[in-house]
Amino acid sequence: MYTRILLKLSGEQLQGKYDGGFDAQRAAWIAGEIKKAVTAGSEVVVMVGGGNYARGAQLAGGGVRRVTADNVGMLATVMNALALADVFNESGLAARALTNIKADQVADQFTHRRALSHLEKGRVVIVAGGIGRPYLTTDTAAVSLALEMDCDVILKATKVDGVYDKDPAKFDDAQRYETLSLQQAVEQPDIKVMDKAAIALAADHSQSIIVLKLLEEDNIARAIAGEQVGTTISA
Ligand code: UDP
Repeated sequence: MYTRILLKLSGEQLQGKYDGGFDAQRAAWIAGEIKKAVTAGSEVVVMVGGGNYARGAQLAGGGVRRVTADNVGMLATVMNALALADVFNESGLAARALTNIKADQVADQFTHRRALSHLEKGRVVIVAGGIGRPYLTTDTAAVSLALEMDCDVILKATKVDGVYDKDPAKFDDAQRYETLSLQQAVEQPDIKVMDKAAIALAADHSQSIIVLKLLEEDNIARAIAGEQVGTTISA
């Protein structure tokens, strides 16, 4: 059993039934899934994305500088973290949002000690703002945070049930990997489940990652219990 996990939730997971923005119903469902993990005795840190509102790489251009676009992207993650923390608490899952970009008016600044203190009190810690610098994604921030918080494993929640050798939406004969080495995930160009900077950081520190389908009941709890779910990427 994994005792402390980092769950990476992308913005896309939070938009639920909508084309963008935040779906509180989806967030409440996620709260229920995380609650099973917490009840089983795991501490949970969430790194939240912002793609449901803005992604730097897409927003940049036409006069918007990349740094500005990334700053907007980071603000988007703060919006998600605030709403997510509310829905989690309302669902009976104690949670606190912390941010890596300064937003004193709306959320507490992330510090290592503050995050630890919340975890020790049995609260889920939701981290916004990625790493707080441009030209990065929340995938890379998730790996960095997992290392910083000593997480046993990163659960990367996706639409599909693991890593495939080619896009399963486009190819009928796509094969799912049950396991992959971090080195393979870095080197194989077709493996795009996380950006290469994120995987490379994980590989450098032998940080295991499990890629699983979010919208499959009990997937998170099963993965935490050590069952084979999705694709495990490890050293
Ligand atoms: N971002 C950034 N630095 C970070 C993390 C995120 O500049 O450390 C920006 C970047 O523009 C990114 C956006 O925030 O596109 C939203 O994050 P991401 O694209 O990772 O969200 P997701 O795809 O997971 O929803």
